[in-house]
Amino acid sequence: MSGQGEFAIIAEHFSRGYPKPDLLELGIGDDASILNLANCKLVQSLDTQVAGVHFLAKAPASLIAQRALRCAVSDLAAMGAKPLSFHLSLSLPKHNCTPAWLTDFSDGLKKAAHQLNIGLIGGDTTSSNELVIAILVQGVLAQSQAPLTRANAQVGDDVWLSGKVGLAHAALKQELIGVDEQNLNPKVSAYYRPDVHLAFASELINIANACIDVSDGLVQDAQHIAHCSQVSLELDGAKLSQWLALDNTTFWPALTGGDDYQLLFSASPNKRDAIESLKSFCPDVMRIGRVIERAKEPVYVMDSLGERPGHVGYQHF
Ligand code: ADP
Ligand code: MG
Repeated sequence: MSGQGEFAIIAEHFSRGYPKPDLLELGIGDDASILNLANCKLVQSLDTQVAGVHFLAKAPASLIAQRALRCAVSDLAAMGAKPLSFHLSLSLPKHNCTPAWLTDFSDGLKKAAHQLNIGLIGGDTTSSNELVIAILVQGVLAQSQAPLTRANAQVGDDVWLSGKVGLAHAALKQELIGVDEQNLNPKVSAYYRPDVHLAFASELINIANACIDVSDGLVQDAQHIAHCSQVSLELDGAKLSQWLALDNTTFWPALTGGDDYQLLFSASPNKRDAIESLKSFCPDVMRIGRVIERAKEPVYVMDSLGERPGHVGYQHF
């Protein structure tokens, strides 16, 4: 292992030097790619979940499946796209290859697919030492619609969050296995069945300037918007800690832990009423900061002791 982080690996080895398809509107670097077809824009994103890295191998199969599909579709919401279809790549260890496990897994997958209105249209099934689930999602935007991207935050914009973060990350290991699916506590439910704000996102497309789904930690994902838009983001730590009911020990884990899949977006202050009027879609949406000129740090946020974040979010490697 070279010691490079995942974002450096992607930037150095995979983000340039490949043929560019004629129909490409948006390539590597956002929540999803976009191909501009004759009748619509095809929005695609691939999400991989590995046992022991993204979920516990002993977790209930139905919940593993629901989480995998919800996390994948979240990238479509981040672009404002409407879900259409998905492909499933399943790499299965022998002990997962039993009728009971597979029935439980596919029941969960069907449940999430119906809730998100997305159809399974293909995939691949192989044996493996670890359970690995890769889901390629397709969504659509109308030809006339500009996607929500990470790259268009404007200086002076408000920064908003679609709902509370920190719950999923606060779920304890022992709470995540052996659970009764009919009776999940709020932390376990946030982890396995994150809200995917599809209806809200399809309204946001005409309102927001930039958007990302918070998969790896609020501060780190805010940094992605800052880098892509060449601005800095100033988040209101006092407001966040009050809204999220955090004390000093839970503040940074909630802001850097990830797994919540809320939408973090920026919008002009003259859109405040429009956003407030969408509370029927997204009751918890909250203004948490503002976009400023690019400064030394991409994101400014302090806890009540005046400390800045050390670690900003989850990174592989
Ligand atoms: P997200 O958290 O929204 O799923 P990621 O942080 O996983 O996004 O990826 C950031 C960007 O890098 C995305 O545009 C993704 O498609 C791209 N990417 C990640 N890994 C690879 C890879 N191995 N090859 C090409 N592109 C990649
Ligand atoms: Mg994303």
